[in-house]
Parts: sequence; structure tokens; C-alpha cells
Amino acid sequence: MHSLLRSLPMKRPSILLTILVPIWLTGCASQDWPATQSGPQLVTILGARLIDGSGAAPMEDSVVVIEGTRIQAVGSRAETPVPKGGEIIDGTGKTVIPGLIELHAHYFGDRTEMERLLRAQLRFGVTTSRSMGADTAEHLAVIADARARKIPAPRLYTAGLGFTHPDGHPVQLPFVRRPASEEQARAGVTELATQKVDFIKMWVESKNGTLPKITPAIRQAIVEEASKRHIPVVAHIFDLEDVQQLAGLGVKQFLHTVCDTEDISTEFLGRLKAQGVSFIPTFTVAERPWYFAENPGDLDDPELRSSLEPALLADILSEETRRKLLAEPMLAQLKDEYARGERFVMKLARHGIRIGVGSDSGAGVIPTGWGTHHEMQLLVKAGLTPVQALRAATGEAAALLSGGEPAFGTIEPDKAADLLILDADPLADIANTRKIRRVMQAGRWIDREGTPAQ
Ligand SMILES: [Zn+2]
Repeated sequence: MHSLLRSLPMKRPSILLTILVPIWLTGCASQDWPATQSGPQLVTILGARLIDGSGAAPMEDSVVVIEGTRIQAVGSRAETPVPKGGEIIDGTGKTVIPGLIELHAHYFGDRTEMERLLRAQLRFGVTTSRSMGADTAEHLAVIADARARKIPAPRLYTAGLGFTHPDGHPVQLPFVRRPASEEQARAGVTELATQKVDFIKMWVESKNGTLPKITPAIRQAIVEEASKRHIPVVAHIFDLEDVQQLAGLGVKQFLHTVCDTEDISTEFLGRLKAQGVSFIPTFTVAERPWYFAENPGDLDDPELRSSLEPALLADILSEETRRKLLAEPMLAQLKDEYARGERFVMKLARHGIRIGVGSDSGAGVIPTGWGTHHEMQLLVKAGLTPVQALRAATGEAAALLSGGEPAFGTIEPDKAADLLILDADPLADIANTRKIRRVMQAGRWIDREGTPAQ
């Protein structure tokens, strides 16, 4: 599908550090912020429209009470007592939504660059992020620091280094796991389990028949070994037959969309729903070959610019790149595949199959943070309602990360106090999720630089 991926520049992480530094993470299930912290202990947001992330209809004139790191009370003004003291925020004319969740991010570059991207996410209101398969030991060390609250960052989940065929996609990431045998694949899963990763990533793509796919036998070895160790597998796919095989093995999460939508039977969709399968469509990366070339005005956005690595920004701003993208001979075919992806997602939605927000941000020219908002816009363009798109980026995404009842992702009592105060209503225009007045992460306000305010 995204055949231009290889032609676009991508920063390489240090392979040397991968070999030298063993890193073990503390499990993500235990990721809870310390109860004692600086900053306000009690915050009440009064009179805002509330979209709680559960998919429920918005509540007008709400009261949201935050105590410490958690949400203490939520309700209508008539029924919810307003506590005395603390910080009171007038929410009149504002909308409160949960902190956003990015289910498909990548962090390339060294520690400094990764920390910069993590701050960019916070600035954009992304308070939870899952890194999908390109994390070297250097990245895992940054994630460990983020979990220990040593650096400002979203709540982070990682798949470590993912699996593909020895000569398979993504060819621009030679350092990912490329097992040549089932034994090597199982050993790779064992190593990931030792590193205490949260997910296992598998790339299953032939780039329109130009590259070999990871073989079915090796996929099966990975899934079996992962399920023994209770680590969920997330598969990057584009072909229906691969979804069929992997769903049959018990894989529940799929990245990207299936192009051959006409061949999907209602019976198969029913089975996917019954199995609790979810898709993270990643329209932002599918649209990447032409989006900025056709919408150069978007590149004037200073927040977008600040989240792109300078060399990438210079490249995408260049007239030569723009001309090259617009002259891409496969453009019509890519747009046709994109439209089929939209039809696929609406089929999923009609059958009640779970959909999460992931933008592939950090991959090539998808600006980190910006991509999460853009993906919601593309889900609405495909046909979801704004409430559904917001749920896919909050409550549903949290459920997909936790595998059970998440401790964050919705604005409900006892959940982590991750929230955004917006100046405009995202139900009127989903692009209004960008009109961010304030970002709170675990009860603390994030300043404009993406660091916790004192
Ligand atoms: Zn990706």
C-alpha cells in the first residue's frame, strides 16, 4: 500500500546500543503514577460540556472533580456537589474530553529525539501512547525512565522490536527481528518476555507482491510462544487471508486495513466480533503519499512543524518532494486502496467490531501528536460519528491496551485524571480537538512545552 515509505527519509536508531545494553521494563500493568506529587491536589472543572470517552452522549453543564492523580467525581451540576477549595476552573463554553491515546506510534532517533517526540505528544494532548515494534534497547531505556516519571512523557506501552521475514517489510528497519526459523522466532519471543514488553508486533506485508511475507509457520510459532507467556500479538496486515490465518490462531489486534473488502463475508465479520478482534485502521499513513502535497497549507501550522524532525520538515516542505509525490504513478491506485480501506472500516463499524486510533506517527513525515488528531478526522471522514472517533481514541483504545477494565481512558470516578479542556466543540467539527486550552496528565497540568507545570 504505502509504497512511498522507502523513498521517504527515516532516522535510524543506534544499532550498537541494541547489542550492548540489556534493558528490562517494569510491567505496564503496574504503571501507576506516584500518589504524592507537586501541583494542585484538588481541581474542579465547572460547567463544561463533557464527552467522557465511553461513547455516551455528551453531558452539558458538568462538574468534574480531580483529586490527586485521579478523577474523584463526575456528574451534572444539579447532582454533583462542588468541593470547597482547590483550583476551580470555569468550563463555560469549553468541552472536556479524556487525554488522547495513540495506539500506533514509532520513535526513531536517539534519546534526545525520542524525548522531544514524547513532549510533543503531551503538548498535543496525547497522554498515552503505544510504540509499535521499532524500540531498540536505547528506546526501552527511555521508556523505563518515562515510567519512573524521570522525564515528561505519555503513559507508554511498547512492543520492543517486532518480527518480519528476513527480507521483508519494513526494509528501512534492518534491526527488527527477522527470524529464519521457528526456533529463532521462539527465542525472539523469549527475549521480549524477558524485557517485559506489553505487546508483540508482527509485520505481514508483501508490498504488492514485491517482498516476501513472514511465513505462516513462523507466524504460528510466534503466536504460540507469545500466548504461552500471555503477551498479546498485534499484526500489521493488508490481506484478508492473513487476517483469517492470524485470527484463527487467536490474534486479536490488527493494524491497517484490508483492501479486498468485497470478499469479506458477514459470517467472518461475526466471528471476528465474537472473538473480540479490533482494528487500528491507520488512515493517516495510508493518506501520507499525497496529503501534504495536496494540502501544503497544513505545513504552516507551527505546532505541526515543531513536532517534525528538522530534516524531515525541510524535505516535506521542498517543492521537489511535492512535485515528486504528485507525479507518483501509483497515486490513483493508492487513492483507490484508501477508499477501499474506508469501506472496510465502515463494514467493521456496522458489525460492531472494535476500532482504535493509531496514526503510525513518527513513521516518515507523520508528525507526532498531530497524527493522532488527524486520524480522528479521517475516521469521521470515513463515516464514524465524532463521538465514535473520540471513543476510538480514548475509552476503546484504553480497553485495547489493558485487555480488561482500564484504569484510564474515560472521565469517570477512580480513573486516572488524564483530560483535555477544549475551546471548541469536537462534535461540531472533530478538528476542534486541536483547540486545546489545557492538558492534564494524572492530575497535573502540562505546560505549552509539554512538561508538567509546577
Ligand atoms: Zn507502524
